[in-house]
Amino acid sequence: MQAVRGVEFSVEKGEIMGIVGESGSGKSVTMKAVMGILPENAKVEYDSLKLNGKELAGLSAEEYRKLRGKEMTMIFQDPMTALNPLKKIGSQLEEVILRHSNLSRQEAKEKAIEMLRKVGIPVPEQRIKQYPHEFSGGMRQRVLIAMALACEPQLLIADEPTTALDVTIQAQILDLLKELEQEYHTSIVLITHDMGVVATVCSKIAIMYDGLIMENGMTDEIFYNPKHPYTKALLRAIPSLDLKEGERLQSIDGVPPSLIDPPVGCPFAERCEYATERCYKEMPKYKNYSETHRAMCFLNEQE
Ligand code: SF4
Repeated sequence: MQAVRGVEFSVEKGEIMGIVGESGSGKSVTMKAVMGILPENAKVEYDSLKLNGKELAGLSAEEYRKLRGKEMTMIFQDPMTALNPLKKIGSQLEEVILRHSNLSRQEAKEKAIEMLRKVGIPVPEQRIKQYPHEFSGGMRQRVLIAMALACEPQLLIADEPTTALDVTIQAQILDLLKELEQEYHTSIVLITHDMGVVATVCSKIAIMYDGLIMENGMTDEIFYNPKHPYTKALLRAIPSLDLKEGERLQSIDGVPPSLIDPPVGCPFAERCEYATERCYKEMPKYKNYSETHRAMCFLNEQE
């Protein structure tokens, strides 16, 4: 099974890029491959993977392990599973800091308090003595962000970091990511199924479907000049306050094709209102609309 095919993108220093797609589109697999944390039986092939100009292809498992946490790090949807319920928040944070720095235990403790304060946790001197279950979901996600940023990584990958949170807390966490990106100039990749989330914080977006990037571009290009029918359908599915009474949100009928036996043609054909016979027989190539904007669809060939 090929979970991801031909994926190509770049994230600049201090930039937030969103990867959007339905479950199973390959967005998490792509970024886990970048992190080198896929299961051992996964086969990852790529021509080039660079972090701050340094080629990662060919690094040994040990060299890769050293990069994780220090130079690139990943946070997940459910903070409770990433935290040890039996250890105090402070000692978990200190452990990460000590592992990736030359600080003394006392300095690591001070840094842990400073990081908790940075991510908006009140009275951090007290909170470091508490256990994860004494924190709310939003506060636990803040702790994970503090942990991820404690070593000032160049790349932070956030996999659906706000999906389990209510909308108010979700907005706070997104604001926090944006503030931290500005303060630390960390490159952030935000994985989400929610176009509303990427609109708030991302400067560029990749739309994934069936293991392929269907369209990518700057946020304005994707929102104001979308080219791919799948992107357009995702945009129509965003909840809006402009909906009139009785008007329903548009959903995308059907399901993505199997990755075990992917179609020879366009993978979106079965769900696409514009599909022609050719779409079922041939895989469309990318067409560039600007230096930053491209999409794979036959519809726009003549533009
Ligand atoms: Fe739709 Fe054809 Fe474009 Fe695929 S290539 S998105 S099926 S029009």
